Amino acid sequence: IPIERIRNFSIIAHVDHGKSTLADRLLEFTGAIKENSGQSQILDKLQVEKERGITVKAQSVSLLYNFKGDDYLLNLIDTPGHVDFSSEVCRSLFACQGVILLVDANDGVQAQTVANFFLAFGKDLTIVPVINKIDLKNADPDRVTKQLQFLFDIEPQEVLRISAKLGKGIESVLEAIIERLPCPKVDREAPFRALIFDSWYDKYRGALSLIYVQDGDISVGDEIQSCHTKKVYEIKTVSLLRPQEVAANKLNAGQIGLIGCNMRSSKEAFIGDTIHKSSCIVEALQGFEPPRPMVFAGVYPSDQSQHISLRSAIEKLTLNDSAVSVDVDSSPALGQGWRLGFLGLLHLEVFSQRLQQEYGAEPILTAPSVTYKIKLKPTKQNLKTGEQLIYVNNPALFPDHLLIEEAFEPMVIGTIITPDEYLGPVISLCMERRGIQRSAKNIDNDRVMLQYDLPLCEIIVDFHDTLKTISSGYASFDYEDNGYQSSNLVKLVILLNGVAVEELSNIVHITKAQTVGRKMVLKLRDIIPRQMVQIAVQAVSNGKVLARENIKPYRKDVTAKLYGGDVTRRMKLLAQQAAGKKKMRMVANISLPKETFIDVLKK
Ligand code: GDP
Ligand code: MG
Repeated sequence: IPIERIRNFSIIAHVDHGKSTLADRLLEFTGAIKENSGQSQILDKLQVEKERGITVKAQSVSLLYNFKGDDYLLNLIDTPGHVDFSSEVCRSLFACQGVILLVDANDGVQAQTVANFFLAFGKDLTIVPVINKIDLKNADPDRVTKQLQFLFDIEPQEVLRISAKLGKGIESVLEAIIERLPCPKVDREAPFRALIFDSWYDKYRGALSLIYVQDGDISVGDEIQSCHTKKVYEIKTVSLLRPQEVAANKLNAGQIGLIGCNMRSSKEAFIGDTIHKSSCIVEALQGFEPPRPMVFAGVYPSDQSQHISLRSAIEKLTLNDSAVSVDVDSSPALGQGWRLGFLGLLHLEVFSQRLQQEYGAEPILTAPSVTYKIKLKPTKQNLKTGEQLIYVNNPALFPDHLLIEEAFEPMVIGTIITPDEYLGPVISLCMERRGIQRSAKNIDNDRVMLQYDLPLCEIIVDFHDTLKTISSGYASFDYEDNGYQSSNLVKLVILLNGVAVEELSNIVHITKAQTVGRKMVLKLRDIIPRQMVQIAVQAVSNGKVLARENIKPYRKDVTAKLYGGDVTRRMKLLAQQAAGKKKMRMVANISLPKETFIDVLKK
């Protein structure tokens, strides 16, 4: 198929606005799958998707469509919806010349619609605005059209109206893709060059890479080289996804396809890497930038006997999700474990859920932390080594305040869209999270879009849930990375009978030290079971005690009331008590239930 008849595009939308459903209809309409086959969200259910699990991002499919007598090759590249994966959305968009911006006719423009629009707009992509779900009773496409015009300068006559569910207007979407989108700007005569924009692991064939061919062509048997690792591979398989894998002889410039070349792990197939024929040197297509973890958490086996099985589960999962960073870690209370880095909180949640569901692991996760940047006070030694600037992603390792010259925390720009009846509580929430308002504007009669500068650490735990709760589910939120900002941070340390429990350390803004310290102490007082001796619980920061509570001694004799009585019952109770003890961790001679570490850090 000539370059002029290729269109590469993706569908971008806020979650639940109908991306997958529209993709299904496009597949049916072009004959890639049978109509009314009773299947839905086909792209989500492919074998590859199952193998790649929930973090799966770009799903691609090549469609053939005959339009006015000519055959067109349409490559649909599904992008990950969540901002955690926005670096990968960017890469997927590199292979596209246009996007379908899908908006729910009832919900209208939401926070991720805005974020996605600007991502595509910033890349100079042609945007086809489509309002979906016009069949809904409360659909108000005129209002959504006005929002699109007001926010993005989109002309009302450009906006398509469809119902993906009922299959209405699908033809108009295909027509717009062919008529409005440019064909790929590529060179078929130049030496082969392609961008890897997704990869996953196949048990039998090793890492498979989804590539966008920018120049030249590639066939089975060719030798390729990675710009990033300089390693050379022989191409073993070349295929198209339609959506099942179909072997192809060759991929030409402008095309998207899957290659396999016996890479042993997905760590070798770097997303964002450029590959070329080993015989000729080319310039890389984009600056190569590995995904940068933003949120870190300690992961420990609940019992050291499970250390090996947890390690194997983590190894298998990271093979599948190379964006997770892994470092070994150990802690006096929790033993040997790992410190894992994630692209965002959703990513972390998905990962820990997969550990449990797919591997039956029940690890202890410490509270998530961001990476702080610290400028140490000059000392003879760090001036010599030039190590005055350090990065810390584990509160336990945060240096003493006397050593710190200046501390910095990562910031984000958050976008919130809310019906104006919830504006008051939403603004209060942002202020409570140390947000600084950048802008506020009405996007129509009763909806407001707010932008805030927010510290990342204030939104990673429960910001999104709280926002949903206070707005009855109507407010939406999205954020983007915005560098570091100097901040007055202190380390809050918990002491049990005078002994610091580093696992419970927390980095907080100075204005919050008192409240957070107080809360933690009260919570610990309630969670820690009474023991033989009195326990003093203290929250200390910068050498000052901010809060203190005592836990009175108490001997819990579960069988006390069963004098004489039933022996078996008595045995059972003692056995239960022993089992309970096993789940305890000894910290400063005090046994803490394993949940303490998680519970206490929930806000
Ligand atoms: P995604 O998260 O953007 O991929 O959204 P999905 O395609 O999974 O759709 C989310 C929900 O909206 C599903 O329950 C769909 O059945 C529903 N949906 C999608 N398109 C339409 C439509 O045109 N009309 C109606 N009424 N519901 C739709
Ligand atoms: Mg979907």
